[in-house]
Amino acid sequence: AKTEERNAYRLYSPLMHADARRRLSLAVDLRQALARKEFRLVFQPNVELRTGRIMAVEALVRWQHPERGMLYPDDFIPMAENLGLIREIDEWVLGEACAQLRRWDALRLPSLRMAVNVSASTIGRRAFVDRLAEALEANGLSGERLLIEITESAILRLGEQTERTMQAIHGLGVGVAIDDFGTGYSSLAYLKLSAIAFLKIDRSFIAGLPGDANNAAITQAMLAMARSLGLRPIAEGIETQEQHDFLLRAGCSEGQGYFYARPQPAQDIEGMLRPSLRP
Ligand code: C2E
Ligand code: CA
Ligand code: CA
Ligand code: CA
Repeated sequence: AKTEERNAYRLYSPLMHADARRRLSLAVDLRQALARKEFRLVFQPNVELRTGRIMAVEALVRWQHPERGMLYPDDFIPMAENLGLIREIDEWVLGEACAQLRRWDALRLPSLRMAVNVSASTIGRRAFVDRLAEALEANGLSGERLLIEITESAILRLGEQTERTMQAIHGLGVGVAIDDFGTGYSSLAYLKLSAIAFLKIDRSFIAGLPGDANNAAITQAMLAMARSLGLRPIAEGIETQEQHDFLLRAGCSEGQGYFYARPQPAQDIEGMLRPSLRP
């Protein structure tokens, strides 16, 4: 048993080094990525379940790494948060997403809402609301066109400042959606904040529908709560017709997921928005 253990250790150790090396070099690259213009945005439609009409798109960031290819947020957002780089990335995303809305407006495509994700440390800065106002102003957009997605834990991390920040965002007409709803802390007090207009029900609850009785009950409870608080629910991660049917019956009006569309580049969204037949 002893030799096995030693062998196991010897086999594992170089892998750990390789992983640590990989992360270190990724961190070095991440510091350069903005200046080198390596970030891209893809957009995932958010549809009205009954009609399939696109109500909004969510901007999701991708890192086109020169050697490693396309990297997904889970590979670098936590690292960006730890390195203090997330604010710059989030602000770039905000600016780029608003610029994209303006381009779509210029093409006279049906008017959409744009949803942008922001991390706790981004929204926690006093200057964030100024950046928000600038991004809208620079692109001739009214605040109603924009939605900020923030997780429950990020809202709670705002602490005393929460009310003031939310009021300021609300003052711009920008809506706030609670992202990954149901996976965070148990306090629901923040749901009273008037800036909060949407609840995005986390896909972990949608995944087992309709078979999973617990997730079905939790989803129905969350929908009932949204209804009585006057919040608009958006179900995340809808992948099947059965999930779609269940949610429609349960009174959920909006959703997002691979069943409707994957995150995709701006031109592909344009294709979906353009009427296919012109008179
Ligand atoms: P999220 O905000 O919950 O975004 C939804 C994620 O679920 C996206 O992953 C999307 O591709 C994926 N998804 C959508 N529909 C389905 C489905 O039907 N099935 C499954 N299995 N997955 C689906 P993505 O793009 O990898 O983003 C992961 C997370 O990274 C996001 O989760 C968000 O929290 C974060 N993120 C993305 N962009 C930004 C950003 O610009 N700033 C910050 N701070 N975070 C970001
Ligand atoms: Ca989100
Ligand atoms: Ca989410
Ligand atoms: Ca998430």
